[in-house]
Amino acid sequence: MRCGVDIGGTNTLIGLVDENGKVVDHDCLKTSKYESAQDLVVTIAYSILRMAKVNGHVPIQSIGLGCPNINPEGRVEKAANLKFRCPVSLKDELLRYFPETPLFFDNDARAATLGEAVYGSAKGLTDFMMITLGTGLGCGIMSQGKILQGTNGMAGEVGHSILVPGGRPCGCGRQGCLEQYVAAGGILRTYTELCKKKNETIRASEYRDVADLARQQDETALQAYAETGKILGLALANLVCFSAPSHIFLFGGVAQAKEFLLDPTRKAFEENLLFCYKGKVRIELSGLSDSAKNAAILGAAALYRQA
Ligand SMILES: [Zn+2]
Repeated sequence: MRCGVDIGGTNTLIGLVDENGKVVDHDCLKTSKYESAQDLVVTIAYSILRMAKVNGHVPIQSIGLGCPNINPEGRVEKAANLKFRCPVSLKDELLRYFPETPLFFDNDARAATLGEAVYGSAKGLTDFMMITLGTGLGCGIMSQGKILQGTNGMAGEVGHSILVPGGRPCGCGRQGCLEQYVAAGGILRTYTELCKKKNETIRASEYRDVADLARQQDETALQAYAETGKILGLALANLVCFSAPSHIFLFGGVAQAKEFLLDPTRKAFEENLLFCYKGKVRIELSGLSDSAKNAAILGAAALYRQA
């Protein structure tokens, strides 16, 4: 049995995964309740030990831990969404409880990428990209069967590639980053701007509302997705030149908008692809799991593949 732990700004998910990729048991903690990494890790450790015990004292083959801004050595230098004091080594903390168990660490986008490779739709694929779409935009790149890390573990920060020079301001201090257009907040902003332009009442105060409106065939909401797809499709077409993937998988809350986003993205993607890639690269939704909770656990559990 492998264990996957996903530390998010709101919740921490802990789960046991069998060899068939089934989450057999899981636990959920409120991350924000823990003031220190030590307190959080001790609770995680007891949760893992409890689950192993109630599931017939199964041996834990490995523990994979996904967390924002963590490096493969298990160190968190700085994390905007986490309360506890940084820098901190989550590896040192976990080792106190699991000195014999192989431990693996990485950010959530790369965890999702490995999850897709081990348990999802990318089984057997050597070259693919995973785009995680939610509050932000993350990216994991599998190239020749290996996950790309870069010199400092920062490979794949494509959410901060500038798509619109002089465009929307970004939290990173620059303007026109991809994330500002295609992550949840960006889509809401596009919808709001379209409403103002058309002198329409704004009927969405958060991203979820835009998705609901699109499902009700609201013209402006659908238009917001069409605009988003144009930018995402262009960005992905550019990315293809970089590592020549056979597939690009879309993962996360925003990707759940399915055809509203997928159709315009695929269209803009094909239009902008370099001739030698045309018709050869597929954009698909992640096959990891229909449940976001399980997908996060599976991604973290699959981190053993990073070695
Ligand atoms: Zn940025």
